[in-house]
Amino acid sequence: MFSLLRKHLFPPRCLICSNGEGVEDGVCIECRSRIRFLPEPVCDVCGTSLGTPGTCIECLSRPPEYDRMLSVCVFDGLIQDVIHRFKYHRATVFGKFLAKLVYRSVTEKGIRPDVLTFVPLHWSRIVLRGYNQSALIARDLSGYMGVDVRYGILHKTIKTPSQVGLPKRDRERNLKAVFSARGVEGKSVMVVDDVITTGRTAREVSKTLKKAGAKHVFFVSVGRTAS
Ligand SMILES: [Zn+2]
Ligand SMILES: [Zn+2]
Repeated sequence: MFSLLRKHLFPPRCLICSNGEGVEDGVCIECRSRIRFLPEPVCDVCGTSLGTPGTCIECLSRPPEYDRMLSVCVFDGLIQDVIHRFKYHRATVFGKFLAKLVYRSVTEKGIRPDVLTFVPLHWSRIVLRGYNQSALIARDLSGYMGVDVRYGILHKTIKTPSQVGLPKRDRERNLKAVFSARGVEGKSVMVVDDVITTGRTAREVSKTLKKAGAKHVFFVSVGRTAS
């Protein structure tokens, strides 16, 4: 009753442009039309855009540790801006909007895990930032999917410098054996990340989960950098 009244008196405004038209999860229809979705078809293992449906040559010749990796949007323009504000400027209001994008995509692909979790940050970075952006997306995604989010599955045991701006070889060295996992024996686990850049984190996290006994690992992200 009160929420209906509030909606009538203060119609929701877009969190990005303040427009009031077709606002859903805080974002208006005009801003949503500016999102660039990853072009279909995508590889049914690594989620990279392909010319034809199926599995890409890299995944066929060297199957990755995860069972499936899926991203929703190209990481540029509006989505890049939103994720940046969400991650570094405490714009946690975008959590539901980003989770809904992932939710639509995983539902469409028929991916159904037993549990949800997220790429962990080292505790010192959480202290600094105050929150883990991927955990917030996972929490809202859990509500949409009706699948529990588990907080203690993955840990980041060693603090690594930020991956941004590092050459590829250093980035790979940078991530060796920094994750640990527990409580996933026989389970299908979905790991949420905000952006996938090289896919290295996804492979390391998935390897750790499989070693700990996970049956399936699905890795999902809102954005993916064009590579
Ligand atoms: Zn807008
Ligand atoms: Zn592939």
